[in-house]
Amino acid sequence: MEVDPNEVAELESKIINHEAYGKPYKWSPRDFELGTSLGRGMFGHVHVAREKKTGYLVAIKALFKSQIVKSKCEHQVMREIEIQSHLKHPNILRLFTWFHDEKRIYLVLEYAAGEELYKHLASAPMGRFPESRAARYIYQIADAVDYCHQRHVMHRDIKPENILVALNGDLKLADFGWSVHAPSERRKTMCGTLDYLPPEMIKKEMYNISVDHWCIGVLLYEFLVGKPPFESEDQEKTFARILSLDVIYPSYVPSGAKDLLSKLLKKNDRLSLDGVKSHYWVQQFQNV
Ligand code: AMP
Repeated sequence: MEVDPNEVAELESKIINHEAYGKPYKWSPRDFELGTSLGRGMFGHVHVAREKKTGYLVAIKALFKSQIVKSKCEHQVMREIEIQSHLKHPNILRLFTWFHDEKRIYLVLEYAAGEELYKHLASAPMGRFPESRAARYIYQIADAVDYCHQRHVMHRDIKPENILVALNGDLKLADFGWSVHAPSERRKTMCGTLDYLPPEMIKKEMYNISVDHWCIGVLLYEFLVGKPPFESEDQEKTFARILSLDVIYPSYVPSGAKDLLSKLLKKNDRLSLDGVKSHYWVQQFQNV
């Protein structure tokens, strides 16, 4: 069920262009056999589905237009579609195509059969990943985010809930609802998730792609410790801890990981994503 590049190329020509018709195909829900529900999102349901002609398994996310309009999220949804449909990377969830009818927008997505990463983390022994798994995962996310940054896309909402797992165990970065094309690489909107917010966003300062580097640091800490580093009883305390970089490392966090975390969870000059991928602690687990 894992999508390999050849299958994707075949899928693109057969499904997306529907070459049998000799012209771009106008999709409709009738082209898919809907399977079980995979979950529920903000604007509708996600189902596993089989494209009838090719038998190809995908995930279909159906979004209710009325709910999108009611929440004034038209721009966010269109941005998600626009951005995600152009990203092709092994650790980014593919958006193959989309279509709509009177009531819904349907997103045809790569099917990630391994569920969401936060469930794996919650069910791991002591709610945390062994360092080898954390290091392999961080490499994959750093590589995916690096790919986005090269295309001037920042994700801005990296967290376990927005990462899916493929059948072969590879991670798939998803949920590009908060991501944004940023040719200038400098923005001012506050977004993302509380625990993952970097100091510059809390202070409402201009920020750039390095907000994602901070989030990769928070993510790594959560992988290793089972909870994000600045978690507190209330928002004010979380913000205060983020602003004072109040990170407490339990004794079991390996020194190599601590070194990497200290280079990401800082206010300026965060380590580059190449630097994350080539960090000695990350590297030692890549081919084991
Ligand atoms: P979302 O609207 O993206 O939050 O999706 C709702 C739920 O559906 C998620 O929590 C996932 O468990 C599941 N889901 C979404 N997209 C996929 C996918 N491409 N493959 C497998 N499960 C998915």
